[in-house]
Amino acid sequence: MAGDAPVVDTQEWTGQCYCGKVQWKVSGPLLFTAYCHCTACRGFGGAPYYEFAAFNLDDYCVVQGTDQILKVATIPGSPYLRGRCANCGCSIACTKDSEPKWLSIPLGTVKEYAGVPGRQMHFNYAFKLPWVDFENDGLPKFPGMPGQE
Ligand SMILES: [Zn+2]
Ligand SMILES: [Zn+2]
Repeated sequence: MAGDAPVVDTQEWTGQCYCGKVQWKVSGPLLFTAYCHCTACRGFGGAPYYEFAAFNLDDYCVVQGTDQILKVATIPGSPYLRGRCANCGCSIACTKDSEPKWLSIPLGTVKEYAGVPGRQMHFNYAFKLPWVDFENDGLPKFPGMPGQE
């Protein structure tokens, strides 16, 4: 079952925004993959849900285009910091400056798909849009963030 896919301990992950001006690298394991259905993530990704890969914040670095990263205005009540490429508008990453210090990266910007495990869980499933249907995918569905419901 996809939800039981092992987390792959790949040493290095790379990715880039749509235009390529922002390039990033992660040296360390992929922690997990998930969908988030919250309003903030939907707006950030411009899609009915946000599908992301999570890494340790300390393992992440921007190798090119740091000056291109535009901080996205935070919506009221959201503790997250989000970045976008100033040139192409592509979503780069989302994080927060408190424990646990992990960072989410839109899966569409990751280059090494071969090492990405199957989809593993849903966050904020209570906020899922009505036409989005994952009822039978067999994955854990947290109504809020795991550990906060
Ligand atoms: Zn770009
Ligand atoms: Zn979210």
